[in-house]
Amino acid sequence: MAKQYNSLVTRMIDALKLLPGVGQKSAQRMAFYLLKGDSAKMLHIADTLRDAVEKLRHCSQCRNYTEHNLCELCSDTQRHHELLCVVENPSDLLAVENGTNYRGHYFVLMGRLSPLDGIGPEQLGLGLLEQRLNDGKVKEVILATNPTVEGEVTAHVIAEMAKKAGLSTTRLAQGMPVGGELEYVDLHTLARAFDGRTSY
Ligand SMILES: [Zn+2]
Repeated sequence: MAKQYNSLVTRMIDALKLLPGVGQKSAQRMAFYLLKGDSAKMLHIADTLRDAVEKLRHCSQCRNYTEHNLCELCSDTQRHHELLCVVENPSDLLAVENGTNYRGHYFVLMGRLSPLDGIGPEQLGLGLLEQRLNDGKVKEVILATNPTVEGEVTAHVIAEMAKKAGLSTTRLAQGMPVGGELEYVDLHTLARAFDGRTSY
């Protein structure tokens, strides 16, 4: 076995390996790319990461990341507050926002129900979502969780909550690849599935 050195370069490579999908080789490549490049760029990345860690928190209304109490989307009075689109992750929110004409509000679960991984209603903020469903403003809940087994179970639980609150629920139309993730679906398919959403 090769001797372990704990130089700053090694530490940098180890730190980069904490990123998803980054193994030893990619981490080395990134580290040397960064070191060879312009140092202002590297400091910019470092500063932005530090800023994000220190300042970002969850929006008190939709749970998306924001540096304020309410995120920009939730504070935008031009958006339709009678529509609430429930997504699993911030990247799904961006997919809907960039790929469709939807201009309602969102709720970001930050995951999907997965009891085996310890992800239950509490981790997904379902209590906060329930308050939202009963605030008298929301009329339609759009279930935009991913078409995976866990995504479907999550959609089902939220549909039950919406039903209890007397709200109509819709689910993205067929055409979404089964087992696929919203953020990887091409925008055309996503827009069509969104516009053609059907009663759940
Ligand atoms: Zn928000």
